[in-house]
Amino acid sequence: MTIETVGIVGAGQMGNGIAHVCALAGYDVLLNDIAQESLDKAIATIEKNMSRQASKGKISEAEMTTAMGRIKTTLTLTDLGQTDLVIEAATEREEVKNQIFKTLVPHLKPTTILASNTSSISITRLASRTDRPERFMGVHFMNPVPVMQLVELIRGIATDEETYKTLLGVVERLNKTPASAEDFPAFIVNRILIPMINEAVYTLYEGVGNVRSIDMAMRLGANHPMGPLELADFIGLDTCLAIMHVLHDGLADTKYRPCPLLVKYVEAGWLGRKTGRGFYDYRGETPVPTR
Ligand code: NAD
Repeated sequence: MTIETVGIVGAGQMGNGIAHVCALAGYDVLLNDIAQESLDKAIATIEKNMSRQASKGKISEAEMTTAMGRIKTTLTLTDLGQTDLVIEAATEREEVKNQIFKTLVPHLKPTTILASNTSSISITRLASRTDRPERFMGVHFMNPVPVMQLVELIRGIATDEETYKTLLGVVERLNKTPASAEDFPAFIVNRILIPMINEAVYTLYEGVGNVRSIDMAMRLGANHPMGPLELADFIGLDTCLAIMHVLHDGLADTKYRPCPLLVKYVEAGWLGRKTGRGFYDYRGETPVPTR
């Protein structure tokens, strides 16, 4: 099946990035959100990010103008019914996502493929609530979408081969690289990355190292571009904790228990860069370790 039009639900961090890369790849994009403010902000962000790419010579001014012209916005979810592919990138709450699919389904073309960008919710379960579990998949982009090369493709139990092949084609047209993952908690990247971050927090909690030595050790000793605590602050400590809970609950294995120190930082509201403080304090000129 060929995809020409893409509907995107949720114009936040991920939705605007997905709209950005789809428009540059030549898809007509219809971007939806519940708030006009989010749609306006998304368009401004896409414009700013494309301008940056243009100033670096990664895209031409003409490509940028054409791509921006391909993105339309709407506050009416059902307008997305006539698109070939709908990618849901709304808030990470199962009831929100279920409601979106419930509203959308009666307005969809029979051939439309549904996809969710969820980081942690079961694709099989989301799919089972729709009329088309065979044409439903997980398409997990990484943040920031225009920069990150990988897209995880997650098949639910019922997803058919044609849907999988169609989405493989979409990922290729976006010039990204797919990694196929089975539908188990946190898929591949977060299943490995977040327990590593949790272990770094345990290393800090037990006093094996301090913030600086732990990050330095992993940057220089394992060649990671960022230390794990720095990375945790970038992702958001609440997000890291939520993913540990998903792993702990979903796999029922004590090796996924969240570190009490991670819980403590989240309780304090020290969630990382977005709140100005996490394992580092970002309120001054340069980040200063908080432990
Ligand atoms: P975000 O909070 O930046 O954006 C979510 C947007 O969804 C908001 O603009 C909100 O107004 C909108 N929204 C909420 N309910 C809606 C509804 N009923 N209809 C339409 N729009 C609605 O969140 P985000 O970081 O962009 O995350 C979106 C999804 O992407 C989540 O499922 C998340 O797990 C996943 N994800 C996030 C990251 C990340 O690093 N942030 C990475 C990969 C996947």
